[in-house]
Amino acid sequence: MTKRLTVALVAHDNMKCDLAEWVAWNWEKLLSHRLICTGTTGRIVAETLMARRSTDAAHSRFDITMLKSGPLGGDQQLGSMIANNDIDMLIFFWDPMSAQPHDVDVKALLRLATLYNVPTAINRSSADYLISSPLMGDEEYTPVIKDYKSYIERQLK
Ligand code: PGA
Repeated sequence: MTKRLTVALVAHDNMKCDLAEWVAWNWEKLLSHRLICTGTTGRIVAETLMARRSTDAAHSRFDITMLKSGPLGGDQQLGSMIANNDIDMLIFFWDPMSAQPHDVDVKALLRLATLYNVPTAINRSSADYLISSPLMGDEEYTPVIKDYKSYIERQLK
C-alpha cells in the first residue's frame, strides 16, 4: 500500500532529458501520487507518462497539475504551495552549468523547500533514493517544521 503524496517536479532545460528518463523509469510509482510541475517540465512529464501508460492499459490515470513555466512565475507558484504546506516532496533537477534568467526564483524555491523541511532531490541519484524510500510506502512520516513563533512575535522596538 502506497500513500498518496503531492510530488513537485521541476527540471531546467538542460536537465529535462534526465528527468524524462527518471520519470520513464519510475512511472508506476509516480502514478500513485499527485504531481505538480512547472509548465514545460509538466508537458514533458505528461508526455513521458502517456507513452508508458499506453503500453500498460491497466494503469491508465495520472494526476498532474501544470503551473506556469518556471521563468514566468512557476517556481514562485511552487514556493507558495510549499509555504502553504501543500507539497510533500520536491524533485528539482537544476542545472549546475548554466545561468538561469530566474536564478533568484530558483534560489527562493530551494530556500523555502529547506525552510519547510520538504524532502528534496536535486539530481537523479537523490531522486532514486527518495522514490525508493520505505517512507514513500504506508509508514507514517511527518516532517518536523521548526517553530518560528519567537521570530514572528519578536519585538522590533
Ligand atoms: P519549466 O520551468 O518547467 O517551465 O521549464 C523550470 C524552471 O523553473 O526553470
